[in-house]
Amino acid sequence: MLQFDQLSYWERSTLLEGIDFLVIGSGIVGSACALRLRERFPDAKIVILERGYLPTGASTKNAGFACFGSVTELDDDLEHISEERVWSTVELRWRGLKRLQERFSADQIGLIFPGSWDLLTNDSTEQQRLSDRLDYFNEQIFRITGEKECYSYNREIAQRCGFQEIAGGFRNRLEGELHTGKLFVATQQLLAEAGIAVLNGMNVLNCEIGERDVTVTTTYGTLRANHLAVTVNGFARQFLKDERIVPARAQVLVTDTIPGWSLPGTFHYQKGYYYFRSVDNRLLLGGGRNLDFKGETSTELAVTDAIVGALEELIRTMILPGRTVKTAYRWAGIMGVGAEKKPLIELTHPHVGIAVRMGGMGVAIGSLAGEELAELF
Ligand SMILES: Cc1cc2nc3c(=O)[nH]c(=O)nc-3n(C[C@H](O)[C@H](O)[C@H](O)COP(=O)(O)OP(=O)(O)OC[C@H]3O[C@@H](n4cnc5c(N)ncnc54)[C@H](O)[C@@H]3O)c2cc1C
Repeated sequence: MLQFDQLSYWERSTLLEGIDFLVIGSGIVGSACALRLRERFPDAKIVILERGYLPTGASTKNAGFACFGSVTELDDDLEHISEERVWSTVELRWRGLKRLQERFSADQIGLIFPGSWDLLTNDSTEQQRLSDRLDYFNEQIFRITGEKECYSYNREIAQRCGFQEIAGGFRNRLEGELHTGKLFVATQQLLAEAGIAVLNGMNVLNCEIGERDVTVTTTYGTLRANHLAVTVNGFARQFLKDERIVPARAQVLVTDTIPGWSLPGTFHYQKGYYYFRSVDNRLLLGGGRNLDFKGETSTELAVTDAIVGALEELIRTMILPGRTVKTAYRWAGIMGVGAEKKPLIELTHPHVGIAVRMGGMGVAIGSLAGEELAELF
């Protein structure tokens, strides 16, 4: 492969020299950061370096839930995280979803809002305890969104969808779903229109931060830039050596087509550790990280038989009981998580910033996080 010093004058002077803003990572966050930088600095040279031939973390691998909080997950968060933090993170997600809708039309990214369901098994004590909290949850969501009665309990959902072992579910009428592939394509179009170069296959090995600029070493040679934005999410430890961010692998499968079948929204189960929806008359199901937290603390994009097997078991016993449905696709993506369920957005030097730790809700939060980083320069 050609090294930078073997490239033409045109290639080097147009793409690799005189860079004002270099962004590492072309996921939702890096792209949003670059787009906002363009708005702020119309004449700047902005380049994104991405090590994969496609983004190779989470942004093209996720489930496409446009979500901000389900009852059991919020309830669980409130056990471990302060009230103020939990609701301010929900607010970020909500604002992020609004931002996404300002950048893209619903059609462009396949965004619809049929609502979501947080399924409960037959534990009436737990259902009663959570139902008693609905007024409080609804008040908080009203304060954030101005929307009333976001959550309600529904007993009919299991029968309506043919689920087994499910007693009912908490509905969130404000959550939606989008087409992850369409969001990627629409983002590429915006980047191209904004004159932002995305250089794929560019693995960043090291960054040296000088007083006024940054030298970045890639597999093909070094680049200098006046500013650096690190938006590598689950891979952040390579650059930050920071304990506040941990990689978390998530595995997903999509079944063969099931003629005539679809679901009325997105579904969460077991505090969000499992999630599923229909897409093009197929079932998309992900999760199971709770079965092996240690093993899934990984940046390796691999699926495991144990977790895919557990997902397939859930299909057989709960989601599509009595039907034979084959898995057609399976893949893994890498998230960035931490004890705090809030993105980490900060300048580490006057001309170097990071926006990482998007957790399992980067579709919602990612646009805003990238833009907030761009505001710091
Ligand atoms: C399976 C799965 C399902 C999910 N489902 C949902 C969902 O339904 N709803 C939701 O809101 N969120 C979901 N998420 C989370 C969401 O996808 C992420 O939070 C979001 O995509 C993070 O975006 P990002 O830009 O920060 O990171 P990423 O998309 O991971 O982008 C980081 C990029 O940095 C690149 N990179 C890393 N290291 C280097 C390097 N050294 N040199 C060059 N490039 C580098 C990577 O290749 C990657 O493309 C899911 C995540 C996964 C994995």
